[in-house]
Amino acid sequence: MMPRVARHRLPEEMRALWVVRNSLVSPSSIERFLELAARYGFNALFVQVRGRGDAYYRSSYEPRAEALASQPAEFDPLDYLLRCAEGMGLQVHAWLNVFYVWSQPRLPRSSQHVVSRSPQWIARDAQNRYQMTTAGKVEGVYLCPSNPNVRTHLLKVFAEVAQRYPQLDGLHLDYVRYPYEGYCYCAGCRARFRQTMLERVSEARRAQLDRSARGRNPLAWIEAFPAEWSDWRREQVSAFVWAFSRQSRRINPNLILSAAVWPDPQAAAKHKLQDWLHWLRSDWLDTVVPMAYDKDTAVVQHQAVRVVEQAQGRPVIIGIGAWQISPDSTINKIRAVRRSGARGFSLFSYDAITQDGKSETYLRQIAREVAPNPFGAAE
Ligand SMILES: [Zn+2]
Repeated sequence: MMPRVARHRLPEEMRALWVVRNSLVSPSSIERFLELAARYGFNALFVQVRGRGDAYYRSSYEPRAEALASQPAEFDPLDYLLRCAEGMGLQVHAWLNVFYVWSQPRLPRSSQHVVSRSPQWIARDAQNRYQMTTAGKVEGVYLCPSNPNVRTHLLKVFAEVAQRYPQLDGLHLDYVRYPYEGYCYCAGCRARFRQTMLERVSEARRAQLDRSARGRNPLAWIEAFPAEWSDWRREQVSAFVWAFSRQSRRINPNLILSAAVWPDPQAAAKHKLQDWLHWLRSDWLDTVVPMAYDKDTAVVQHQAVRVVEQAQGRPVIIGIGAWQISPDSTINKIRAVRRSGARGFSLFSYDAITQDGKSETYLRQIAREVAPNPFGAAE
C-alpha cells in the first residue's frame, strides 16, 4: 500500500526560519522567537531539538542537552514551545541531526551520551581515525550509517519524538549523510561490504582479496570495487531514510517529513553519499530543503530552478544563507526562489539574523518581502 503522503499539509508557500538549539535554553528565548516569527510573516519553524546526540526534549534514549543544565529538570523546551505556538499560525517541525553527534574537544559530560557509551559506533576514515571537532571536510564525530545498532538506536530516538509530541507538524532531518566520501571505513563497514560482494566474485578472487585484507591491505575489498563501495554507502543512508519514513508515517501519518540537503543532488550523492533526489521521488520524504547558501543570487536562482525541475512535481523549499548576506540580498533571493516555482524558503538562521533574539532590524528590513500581503489586501 502507498503511504499516505503529508504533502498536502505544506503551506501553499512555506516561509520558514531555522531556529538553532541555543534559542531553546529558556522559556523566554522560546517565547521570543515565536513572537518574532509570527510578527514578521513567517509560517513555519525548523527547531533544532537534537543537536549533538542530545535532547532538547524529554528523552529516554539521549542525555538532556548540557546547555539546559541551569534550567529546572521539568523544563521541556519542545513541549513548552508546542504549547506556546498553539493558535499562532506557525508550523513547528522538529529539526533532528542524524549521524552528527559531537563537536567539542572534550568528551560529553553524560556517560549516557552515545560517544561515551558506544564508541564502537563512531564512523572512521580510511586510516581508522575520527575527529572530535570541525576541521577540513569533517564537522566532528559522526556515527557509522551502516551499523545496524546505530540505525536501531536512531529509529528509537526519532520514534519517541513522533510519539511523545503529536502536535508536531513535521520531522526535519539534518546531517543525514556521511561527512564526505572519505568515511566510513570502520571494521564493521569493511566486513559488511565484503559480505555484500562475496556472491559477486569467484572463489579464487575471494581468496586473493581475503589474503590481502588480512595482510598488508585491510581495504583490499574496497579498493577492488570503488564504484560498488560508493553505491553501497549511498544505500546505507537511503535504507535509514526509508525505515525512518515508514516508521514515522505509521506513528503519525500527518507529519511532514523533510531533510536539509546539499543543494546539488548529483554532488550530494557523490560526495556526501546523500541520494536525496531518490528519497524525494520515492515519496519517503514529503519535501526537501536544499541549502542553497551561496552569496550570489544568480547561483541560488540557478540551483532552485534545477532542483524544482529534477524534483518532478514534488515540493522543494529553498534554504537561504541569510546569516552571511545583507537584508537586501536575502530579499533578492526570496524573489528568485518565488520565480523558480519552489514551494517556499527557509532562512538560516533566526539566531544569526536576530543576534539571538536581541535585534529585530534584519527582520524588519525583510518583512515586506517575507509577507508582502500581511493583511490579506489585494496586491
Ligand atoms: Zn562504518
